[in-house]
Amino acid sequence: MNRSLREAADEVERRIAYACARSGRRREEVNVIAVTKYVSLERTIEAIEAGYPNVGENRWQDAKEKWEALQGRPDVVWHFIGHLQTNKVKDVLGRFSTVHSLDRWSLAEELQKKAKRLGIVVPCFVQLNVSGEQTKYGLAPGELRSFLSKLTACDAIDVVGLMTMAPHEEDPERTRPVFKALRELRDEANAKGSYGKPIEHLSMGMSNDFEIAVEEGATWIRLGSTLVGK
Ligand SMILES: *Cc1c(COP(=O)(O)O)cnc(C)c1O
Repeated sequence: MNRSLREAADEVERRIAYACARSGRRREEVNVIAVTKYVSLERTIEAIEAGYPNVGENRWQDAKEKWEALQGRPDVVWHFIGHLQTNKVKDVLGRFSTVHSLDRWSLAEELQKKAKRLGIVVPCFVQLNVSGEQTKYGLAPGELRSFLSKLTACDAIDVVGLMTMAPHEEDPERTRPVFKALRELRDEANAKGSYGKPIEHLSMGMSNDFEIAVEEGATWIRLGSTLVGK
């Protein structure tokens, strides 16, 4: 059973506020993506109306109906958060504002080529596999610097942040090292000037572990089940 979205949002907001307070951060530094991949168009609209115009989807096929139905709503901002196959780039560009899952050079090449053709620049997060789990997508941390350096040549890609997914843990506290590592990777890349400009954002934290991610510096958290339901 889904709780009312308002109720879920109130609780999420309370928990974000406490996590911000514990870590000396301001609520405005933390952006929430309502991950709607599990839910209907109606529920997606409820989330938007509740104050979450940033919507996240994993697959174009699943997002299509909602995306098309919401074209009359210019306030809605679509984030592509799932693994992006090279042959799906054409579906995503121009529809999603930001790609959170740039995880390999072949994808960068395709994004660059297709974005260039459309005359747009696509904001991207570079996805890292910090935990090293076999099942997770993302660059190994050691590959980041050279990847960023290569990306400076892609003028249709704008790297705005780093993204990671932590392993699912019964005790979310155990995810802390993963989030801390992503923050340190960003800070180190910036200190060394690995990319042409400072990288600002950290997309990290999901329903199970977002408070830890906020404490460790997340600027975008991606909330599905705990906010919009499943
Ligand atoms: C599904 C998904 C989420 C949201 O998951 P919840 O645990 O339901 O909050 C966040 N990020 C990515 C990349 C996802 O695929």
